[in-house]
Amino acid sequence: MDQNRNTSTEGKHFPAQRFKVYTARQLEQIPQLAQLDEQLRFEMKVVASVLPFRVNEYVIEQLIDWNNIPADPIFQLVFPQREMLDPEAFERVAKALQQELPRAEFDAIVADIRADLNPHPAGQLEHNIPTVNGERINGIQHKYRETVLFFPSSGQVCHSYCTFCFRWAQFVGDKDLKIAARESGDLQAYLREHPEVTDVLVTGGDPMVMKTRNLRAYLEPLLSEEFAHIRTIRIGTKALTFWPQRFVSDADADELLDLFTEIQAAGKHLAIMAHYNHWRELEPAIAREAIRRVRETGAQIRAQGPLLAHINDDAEVWARLWQSQVELGIVPYYMFVERDTGARRYFEVPLVRAWEIYREAMQRVSGIARTARGPSMSSHPGKVEVQGVTEVNGEKVLALRMIQGRDADWVQRPFFARYNPEATWLDHLEPAFGEQRFFFDDE
Ligand SMILES: *Cc1c(COP(=O)(O)O)cnc(C)c1O
Ligand code: SF4
Repeated sequence: MDQNRNTSTEGKHFPAQRFKVYTARQLEQIPQLAQLDEQLRFEMKVVASVLPFRVNEYVIEQLIDWNNIPADPIFQLVFPQREMLDPEAFERVAKALQQELPRAEFDAIVADIRADLNPHPAGQLEHNIPTVNGERINGIQHKYRETVLFFPSSGQVCHSYCTFCFRWAQFVGDKDLKIAARESGDLQAYLREHPEVTDVLVTGGDPMVMKTRNLRAYLEPLLSEEFAHIRTIRIGTKALTFWPQRFVSDADADELLDLFTEIQAAGKHLAIMAHYNHWRELEPAIAREAIRRVRETGAQIRAQGPLLAHINDDAEVWARLWQSQVELGIVPYYMFVERDTGARRYFEVPLVRAWEIYREAMQRVSGIARTARGPSMSSHPGKVEVQGVTEVNGEKVLALRMIQGRDADWVQRPFFARYNPEATWLDHLEPAFGEQRFFFDDE
């Protein structure tokens, strides 16, 4: 590990930058791709027809090492790869592209393939959608007692898309302030009726794609006395990686930081839940300046992200990620297991292997950097952490723990599954000791 990295950004000036983004249709216009061979470019086009693709110039120019293609982890993070689709699906789309099928026929093939990729994992569409006066309200999810998730409609895109994400199913275009105000009203109505809620987690997409005045329309009302029960406001974002300019040099960056300051002046805890996958995301000077400026407001930055084959399935990468985070004042929070959706076939790592990587990474850092829980699965019954492989009465088992449960009584319950070195998700596991079901299956 490079021990003498200088994290200071003092005295540096960061001029405003234009946000330039490429989507699937503009793939061919990315100058850096011209150096790659034609076959690879075609494969990207095929996959980008099915999975989300969006990348901005900052990511292309500052985060990707173009001398290390295709292995570069950030390249893998944003650019589509052939094996993300199963071979049959890949061939179908490749043929359709080559034959230049009419739009409707092509779209039907793509829709068919997408439907096979479990676009709404853990029952996202049917479950956890709350009601006010018997009416379902959109944009809110309430699964665990203390925390309400809020998806503002104008925050449902990201500054770039991660290839392993399938939240694109909910990605829609920009919405104006009026809609923000109406949704904000729904959120308030719901929170008024739920004094047990202490945390509001604003998420997306990425809420940081919003202008500050939009974000303010959602958050400012929560600072009033009637929402005294809301103790923590969390904002889930990958903007510290994909567009740190948001916090530094964008026209309303200073206003954003003022809003952060106000939230804390109102006595709330403000937690920026930053999505990170690799220590390289923390290297650019502007990324460090963004972190410094956010922290200067008193907000806490907590880091979370999935463990992924081709990107970070390596203990050394996690150890350096956590250590760098600590040095920059960020608290490692969660290591997630890649969800059972989208390009999982490409990114998934067996649970046993994930735990080994977690454990080895933990062993390489001091207790200060050992704050990340994980590897954790956000599954239908709750968040389940793999605690390790052990033996009980001669039976090899996986020890697991329910960190968050749909039923609050399940929280922190340990349980055991039969050892299975191939399982990549909870539904591949069977209860240990010859039992028929897990405790949460009884419902
Ligand atoms: C992870 C998660 C939360 C927050 O859980 P914490 O352990 O408090 O961070 C809330 N709601 C849902 C649906 C989640 O997946
Ligand atoms: S930043 Fe988050 S929501 Fe956006 S594409 Fe990546 S994983 Fe998905």
